[in-house]
Amino acid sequence: MIEIQCQGCGKHFLAEVHSDRIKRIIFKEPDLKEQIKTKEVSYGDPPFHEDCDSGLTMTAIPLKVIEFWEYDWEKFEWKRNKEFEIDVTPDFWKEWLENPQI
Ligand SMILES: [Zn+2]
Repeated sequence: MIEIQCQGCGKHFLAEVHSDRIKRIIFKEPDLKEQIKTKEVSYGDPPFHEDCDSGLTMTAIPLKVIEFWEYDWEKFEWKRNKEFEIDVTPDFWKEWLENPQI
């Protein structure tokens, strides 16, 4: 689960992101852990929200990973891994956030 921000109005959302096996195999998309470490996690457009004109069709800004869960295939259970609960805002977005241009 990651926290994202709308480019249009600045509203924050909690969003679900997961590692997609098909995308990894066919499109050679990096594993989610890799995407987090390299700050390449993306969610796409933010969820629908009212009173926002332009933000709905613009890519949401990734802020940080709030909870990271992975499946333990030896114990057959989900495990939380705080090592990946980190800031994932790329530098170009940090600069933009300091000086938003809408
Ligand atoms: Zn918005």
